Amino acid sequence: MQRTVLVLNSGSSSLKFSLVQPDTGVSVADGIIEEIGGEHSMARLEFGGLKIQRERSVVDHEAALRLAFDLFAETGGHLETLGLVAVGHRVVHGGRDFYRPTLIDDALVQRVSALSPLAPLHNPPALRGIEVARKLLPDLPHVAVFDTAFFHDLPAAAATYAIDAEVAEQWRVRRYGFHGTSHQYVSEQAAVFLGAPLESLNQIVLHLGNGASASAVAGGRPVDTSMGLTPMEGLVMGTRSGDIDPGIVFYLARTAGMAVEDIESMLNRRSGVAGLCGSNDFRELHRLAETGDESERAAARLAYDVYIHRLRKYIGAYLAVLGSTDVITFTAGVGENDAAVRRDALTGLAPLGVELDEHLNDSPAHGPRVISAEMSPITVLVIPTDEELAIARACVATIEASA
Ligand code: ADP
Repeated sequence: MQRTVLVLNSGSSSLKFSLVQPDTGVSVADGIIEEIGGEHSMARLEFGGLKIQRERSVVDHEAALRLAFDLFAETGGHLETLGLVAVGHRVVHGGRDFYRPTLIDDALVQRVSALSPLAPLHNPPALRGIEVARKLLPDLPHVAVFDTAFFHDLPAAAATYAIDAEVAEQWRVRRYGFHGTSHQYVSEQAAVFLGAPLESLNQIVLHLGNGASASAVAGGRPVDTSMGLTPMEGLVMGTRSGDIDPGIVFYLARTAGMAVEDIESMLNRRSGVAGLCGSNDFRELHRLAETGDESERAAARLAYDVYIHRLRKYIGAYLAVLGSTDVITFTAGVGENDAAVRRDALTGLAPLGVELDEHLNDSPAHGPRVISAEMSPITVLVIPTDEELAIARACVATIEASA
């Protein structure tokens, strides 16, 4: 029987779960329970060709995980029969302490809890997921896989904020970077796809999903990334602002009388393209830009232009950081599916070595593919990310290393 890993991604009101075979790369099942804590939580599962959806009251994360097991049972997949060998937990912030996937024990839980002030929106729900999964599956090894780990060794010049060094040291203020599991996986897959040694490639990876981040990867090691102390820095995202003048925060606190929590919530949830045009979904954004009324069209076009402008600035910056670049790869929901974003991000960059093949770029193909022109000095790729598979593989490698 194939080994299977249960991968959990636990958010404040949602629990995503997948069953992945690390050896074959097959995703056996995928599901999510949303609006945990509400009367009408939505549970969805895709398993063995079946898709089911249930509306239930799910009071907390423990009830959510129990419901996930019930859904598996309902589709004929009792956990005992699935060859489960481990549970992998996505943990957003590993601080300075965690730079590789780590077996979970009580001490690790305490150390990750201590990092919660650095990631108040993300780490506490991940810890809840760890707690309930360890309770319900006590006999399996549990592994924490950190979103920051890949960027742990960013060069100091890229990781350091130019602020009072003592304050930064005392409060651990530095650039940590996020989406590391995806940037690592995609940069490795790009090398596999091109049949070139990872060590020989200078790469720019553009992870454009709801959250969005860019990285510059030289020979497999990250040399810069766009997210910082928190996942708010960098590119314009679905609902997050990305880079802003920090003066905006003080101005709004002083002059508009906004509380710090309100500003944080605005910058996380009501900013980005959604803050500018009302939608964080690029399909809707394009629809508004084409067929909305006059003000919707103007707002959607501005949101799109701001998004593209920032993306081009980061591409230009990373071309300079790397000196010479071999590959630019698009990944995640927008990066994999939105040909217009890819085209507009790279238009006019031929003098810098980037020439897209419009036909390849427009092709509705899925899977890893080249979208640059044959003569383009820099190869442009689309590589689907698969964070669940990367987490599952990291889990079994960690267990094997500790055996
Ligand atoms: P996350 O994991 O950060 O929630 P994803 O990587 O799944 O996000 O990306 C989700 C986003 O991808 C959606 O909000 C939407 O903007 C975009 N997206 C998904 N499918 C398409 C598509 N066919 N065309 C354009 N954008 C798409």
